[in-house]
Amino acid sequence: MSLAIQKFNRKSRPNRGQLYGYPREGEFDPQPPGDIYIKRLEQFRAKMDTAGTEAAIILKPENRAYLSGFDGSAGMLLITRNSALLLVDFRYIEQAKHQAPYFQVIQYSQPLSETLRTVFLDLNLETVSFEQDYVTWEQYEIWANKLGDLVEFIPLPDLTQKLRMLKGPEEIELVRQAASIADQAFLEILPLLRAGISERDLAVELEYAMRRRGAQGMAFETIVASGPRASYPHGTATERTLQTGDLVIIDFGAVYQGYCSDCTRTVCIGLPTPKQQEVYNLVQKAQDVALKAISPGITAAEVDAIARQVISEQGYGENFGHSLGHGVGRLVHEEPTLGGKDQTILKAGMVVTVEPGVYLPGWGGVRIEELVLVTDVGCEILTHCRKGLTITSERGGP
Ligand code: ZN
Ligand code: ZN
Repeated sequence: MSLAIQKFNRKSRPNRGQLYGYPREGEFDPQPPGDIYIKRLEQFRAKMDTAGTEAAIILKPENRAYLSGFDGSAGMLLITRNSALLLVDFRYIEQAKHQAPYFQVIQYSQPLSETLRTVFLDLNLETVSFEQDYVTWEQYEIWANKLGDLVEFIPLPDLTQKLRMLKGPEEIELVRQAASIADQAFLEILPLLRAGISERDLAVELEYAMRRRGAQGMAFETIVASGPRASYPHGTATERTLQTGDLVIIDFGAVYQGYCSDCTRTVCIGLPTPKQQEVYNLVQKAQDVALKAISPGITAAEVDAIARQVISEQGYGENFGHSLGHGVGRLVHEEPTLGGKDQTILKAGMVVTVEPGVYLPGWGGVRIEELVLVTDVGCEILTHCRKGLTITSERGGP
């Protein structure tokens, strides 16, 4: 097996068609055009240069897929200035060759360290970095014991994550699709939002509707938190039955071709009390103000502060205990964090959520979440499903 430096050969790669032309009809395993992976590799290598590493191991599934196109559940990328290797076991060989044409695919059998020894020797490596927030202590010990005589392993912060913050048009399209699937599914289950249905049944119906519309999975476990449970910001669905007068927080997201969506709606079963309406309006106002503020140049922390001030001024600051939002892409929670400490400057092409909430123990809570794309002039909302606290009788309700 020769591991000589591989030069990218664009001519020999399959033509993946136009940027927005995939998946093409009949294509069972769609991939964005290969040039995207060339660009990502170039950008990643620039990050490697800045970090001063000659070789990088990538194990996080989201980074592996982002850089190579391979979305199998196990495998390792090894990227150097001049080579790009994808090491997989027997189960993924065919898939890896198909999905990652810009990587040299190498099959390993256990233990992986023996294959790595050959590879490190062949590439003449002295140092190899790894994702310090992902590799376990146990894994590191194995590498250090078995290969420490050959190379030095260097922990580094996740270099790929910074690249993933800025989405390309092909990624934005997939997030848009994921959001649209979730929107349609929510509209479909609106008539079920009545007293008598359990949180769990509601979640199941919503998830089924998303799957039927093409979601490959859920972006996270669907949250349905009703009545007093609505004060749990992340209350996953239970057997509790919805009752008239309940506030119900529903937080849901689809995954479409590897990309997530994220959306929250809060509804009242029946007519809301003045206080329920007041808290809802306040949360809505905080969100509106934040959405208006989002544009390139503002920091993530500043957007959070703007929304937080609206809620604090009405005395509910203590009841908004989480960040305003987060980046969304291959992971439902990624950088940047619209929160107090994140000084990331927002740029066109970032996708973030704006999700203020107020939670009052014993009473319930309200959260409204939109997924937005930062544009050159402001932001575009990607979540379009019904907003508003009251469910009217013809579309659902008690
Ligand atoms: Zn959410
Ligand atoms: Zn969210």
